[in-house]
Amino acid sequence: MRKVVLMVFFLVTVITCLGQTTSKIIALRCGSVFDGRGDLLRPNAVIVIDAGKIKALAASAPDGAEVIDLSQHTCLPGLIDTHTHILLQGDITAADYDEQLLKQSPEYRTILATVNARRALEYGFTSIRDVETEGAGYADADVKKAINNGIIPGPRMQVATRALDVTGAYPLQGYAPNVSVPHGVQLVDGADNARQAVREQISHGADWIKVYSDRSYRVREDGVLDDIPTFTLDELRAIVDEAHRERHKVASHAMALNGVHNSVEAGVDTIEHGNYIADVDLSTMAARGIFYVPTIFVGEYVAQGRAAEGAPVWLKMIQIHEDTFHRAMKAGVKIAFGTDAGGFDWKVNPAKEFSSMVKFGMTPAQAIRAATVTAAELLGMQDSLGTIEPGKLADIVAVPGDPLADVTAMEKVDFVMKAGVVYRKP
Ligand SMILES: [Zn+2]
Repeated sequence: MRKVVLMVFFLVTVITCLGQTTSKIIALRCGSVFDGRGDLLRPNAVIVIDAGKIKALAASAPDGAEVIDLSQHTCLPGLIDTHTHILLQGDITAADYDEQLLKQSPEYRTILATVNARRALEYGFTSIRDVETEGAGYADADVKKAINNGIIPGPRMQVATRALDVTGAYPLQGYAPNVSVPHGVQLVDGADNARQAVREQISHGADWIKVYSDRSYRVREDGVLDDIPTFTLDELRAIVDEAHRERHKVASHAMALNGVHNSVEAGVDTIEHGNYIADVDLSTMAARGIFYVPTIFVGEYVAQGRAAEGAPVWLKMIQIHEDTFHRAMKAGVKIAFGTDAGGFDWKVNPAKEFSSMVKFGMTPAQAIRAATVTAAELLGMQDSLGTIEPGKLADIVAVPGDPLADVTAMEKVDFVMKAGVVYRKP
């Protein structure tokens, strides 16, 4: 018996050693490294990668390593977009949205989504949180599966599947009552039905539950952005309770006063958009660690089109948003990078959000940390993502030049590595 045990131990040791000696070590020779742990660039550093993970930051490449020359580049942790829609191809106007739901099959939309996933990765987003399929059912869970199985290239994904909203609050709207049309969400009314929908979505692969907490925006005379809350507080509490009970998190679309307040009171994990957030709710968010995902760029991008369609409130919201962003920074709320890509055309690089965040008051280093360290924490993956340090997954991107001097460099990612595999090289 003892002999057998020893033999097995010997074999395991041999196999383990073989695995180590045959795995190829990669060394990235970087002009400088932004490791995400501080504000400074580390010049002339080599990142050593072994078996998909970061092994060391060194001064030179180890013997026998495959060296990739990025000496004219700044290397950074893989970027994380915490608010995307890979099943959507832009919806500036209601007509854009209706067209996709009425004339494109979910199968066709899924094919387009695989292209968007590849685009996201090539822009430098090695992880995304995709916050609902806009009427394409559970297709996001399948795209995620295909990426994880190595069938198609794409970022690491957390998905929200169908999202939840109440009757009468979400497109498609405005059709004759006798015409049944698809909706961009799963409609639920009442706390028990909401719980059932959460259970259903989780059973079909939802990592996150996405709720729409408000709609119909208007600016009050005192400058506050007002809304109509969708769910009652009871319904929202039931959704959050059920999701948390099943160890899942809740993302809440909440753009204005009441939607944000109800979401924060119900205990959601992230506030999406948050164009207006009252000071009292910012304090609660800071105290409870609720993340703010401001999605600034998309607001500017859709404003002109929506104003032309008869909703000028979208133009006023930009100024309100900037003021909220300042107050959120001051209150110490955790701000994570998210773009709403898919809400605008995927051919537009979502990394434009970095410039928007800097325009609203962040330093370039703060904006980059929002898309790395803070976003990794939002995903609950801070132990394996978000910084360049030994033991973490080798998700690394590189841009030419110095993004701390000019943050638009983040729109020029031309090296992408995910878990040690190179997807793009300069
Ligand atoms: Zn969105």
